[in-house]
Amino acid sequence: MPLLLFEQMCEHARRDGEHEVCGVLVGAPGEQSVGQVVVGQNVATEPAHRFMLDAATLLRADHDARAQGSEIIGFYHSHPNQAPFPSLTDRAMMWDDVPVVIIAVRDRGLAVCGWQQRRAQLQPCLLQIESATGEAE
Ligand SMILES: [Zn+2]
Repeated sequence: MPLLLFEQMCEHARRDGEHEVCGVLVGAPGEQSVGQVVVGQNVATEPAHRFMLDAATLLRADHDARAQGSEIIGFYHSHPNQAPFPSLTDRAMMWDDVPVVIIAVRDRGLAVCGWQQRRAQLQPCLLQIESATGEAE
């Protein structure tokens, strides 16, 4: 994903460091390249420990993506003061083959991991950050 979008996602996690934040990653169909970060609202009742992406953001992201010939290619959420590993709840909510980026927010900075799951088999996935010139780093 482009560095600017990666920073936008990280900034969202940092801004609300005490609560889990969440959002949607939109990109071209069939390509694992993020073209847009859609910031969502966490509507969980305990936002410090749980997240629930608001339905309006999900529907709008899906609608807008389709209108541009794109699609939802991933999701992200943050883990305040926890490791960037998916919880059992996270895994239950993951879509098959759709990556989830988890941003751990700590006092000293962030730790970011991507995860993917197919038929309950969890795998890490590489998060490639492209510099502004488009070269992979
Ligand atoms: Zn989580």
